[in-house]
Amino acid sequence: MRVIAIDGPAGSGKSTVAKAVADALALGYLDTGAMYRSVAFAALRRGVDPEEPDKVGHIARDMQLDMKDDGTVWVDGVDASIEIRGPEVTRAVSVVAANSAVRAEMRDRQRSWAAKHGGGVMEGRDIGTVVFPDAELKVYLDARPDVRAARRSKEVTDLEYETVAADIARRDALDQGRDDSPLTTADDAVLIDTSDLTVDQIVAAVVAELEKVP
Ligand code: C5P
Repeated sequence: MRVIAIDGPAGSGKSTVAKAVADALALGYLDTGAMYRSVAFAALRRGVDPEEPDKVGHIARDMQLDMKDDGTVWVDGVDASIEIRGPEVTRAVSVVAANSAVRAEMRDRQRSWAAKHGGGVMEGRDIGTVVFPDAELKVYLDARPDVRAARRSKEVTDLEYETVAADIARRDALDQGRDDSPLTTADDAVLIDTSDLTVDQIVAAVVAELEKVP
């Protein structure tokens, strides 16, 4: 089973690069951030406070989550692809993702997804460190905070740059500071600073690293 792990903070270029690498290698692609967003979405939709760990843990185990191959994300039979990117979910997601019961469940689902798809390119925060420590290649993408905020605010056109920058800084702190599977670089990950690179250059760098794998 071929697993390529692509980790890094928001706005580092993970999604764009992971999709392109998956296409280049004819592998499936899994956005694990969308899975944590889906748990936050399910909690909000059921009227559960994201800060209630037991209830949110229960939802994570109970919910029907379908990460479709066409990139859409379905939660309990509803297409949540747009709403999981909205401000409400974005505000709640890092608290939900710090919940160990949620992480255990998502880890299982991510491993099952890979087993079913014969591996794949998986992007997130803890793929190389926790979910697939034996991945064929681990890439950690990063970029300067101003570059990451500028990229994100291009995607989220209805929010000011300052709001987006503050949200990214808040999520970085929560993701790096949590006890369970914090955002960190695996010892054997290849680090790429994407600040001054085009998408094509980053993809080429990842493919070049893959070619070095014995
Ligand atoms: O990648 P994205 O910004 O959509 O991820 C949303 C949130 O999900 C992150 O801020 C982080 O809290 C959480 N996450 C995580 N572990 C992953 C992927 C995402 O904790 N593997």
